[in-house]
Amino acid sequence: MTPFREKTTVVTDQDLLLVFDETVTRAGVDRWVRHLESAGSPTRIYRLGASHVLPVSEPDGADAVAAAGPDLPVPTRRVPREGQAWLGRRELRPAGTEVSLGPATIGDGSVAVIAGPCAVEDPEQMTATAELVAAHGAVALRGGVFKPRTSPHAFQGLGFSGLELLIEARKRTGLPFVTEVVDPEHVKRLAEVVDGFQIGARNMQNFALLSAVGQSGLPVVLKRGFGCTIEETLAAGEYLLLEGNDQVMLCERGIRTFEPSARFTLDLTAVALWKQRTHLPVIVDPSHSGGRPELVEPLSLAAVAAGADALLIDVHVQPEQALCDGNQALRPEQFAGLMTRLAGAAAGLGRSLSGGN
Ligand code: PEP
Ligand code: MN
Repeated sequence: MTPFREKTTVVTDQDLLLVFDETVTRAGVDRWVRHLESAGSPTRIYRLGASHVLPVSEPDGADAVAAAGPDLPVPTRRVPREGQAWLGRRELRPAGTEVSLGPATIGDGSVAVIAGPCAVEDPEQMTATAELVAAHGAVALRGGVFKPRTSPHAFQGLGFSGLELLIEARKRTGLPFVTEVVDPEHVKRLAEVVDGFQIGARNMQNFALLSAVGQSGLPVVLKRGFGCTIEETLAAGEYLLLEGNDQVMLCERGIRTFEPSARFTLDLTAVALWKQRTHLPVIVDPSHSGGRPELVEPLSLAAVAAGADALLIDVHVQPEQALCDGNQALRPEQFAGLMTRLAGAAAGLGRSLSGGN
């Protein structure tokens, strides 16, 4: 037998995860840590919202698990540790994670709509757009004040001063907002006012940014890089989860393919696979993927049919005046029509629009 063959059989990842849901106290989980330590199988505690996860190395830890006495709480679940993104695996939380974005809940089975302009531009634009999307049933606002633009000559966003307009829009409509963060140094300052963060496609693998946003504990929309795989996106989400923040939503926003007819190609396979593989809610952005208003409705309906929990939609009261991505924003009447047809589609699938009556 060659040493090489021997080695390949040894390198397997057979570790076990003990999952303790919120009914198990931290003191009970600590007793498990001490038990494993004294059995020669040290571990560490990972937090997943109010749950705790303990990896147990095989084969050494298996005996310790089998020998657990009645003083140790029974794990809610035992799951094999597989892959590079195991905290996000569906098996750890089969019912799925619900994200609380202000008063809105995403991931509870309903279809949530987050809508607003690509970029926050001025008070009139932000207020009018926010009131419009609120009137038609959006549960949260979007709007970038830091815009990662391909050209450095393009409008880069209003920066911190633009936050005032989002705060004012929230006050008027009662809707929470998400906004993009591009710099780890900005996270603390933004966290004082935002309801949720957005990490853009271009920053999906900015690991320092992921860790900083994870530490904020706030909800985050993590957009898939347009050159990144389904698994790489799950691994990026794992950086957020590793900080103990389970308020993470994955967003499919189109990938770059050979197809030039749309801005990007919406990958609905990612939606279906993520729904199977991870407990995190899944969002679809039909605006940035299609890049054209007339594609937003068909892509939205398809996303809901594929299982998306929420949609992230660009809306502008005057798209021709927009400083960013006006050529993909829905006009007011288009957004109103979309919401009506989304409600019908959701009902046909046994779901309903979030916040709808
Ligand atoms: C956006 O949503 O404003 C945006 C910049 O999208 P993406 O990061 O998906 O390109
Ligand atoms: Mn945009």
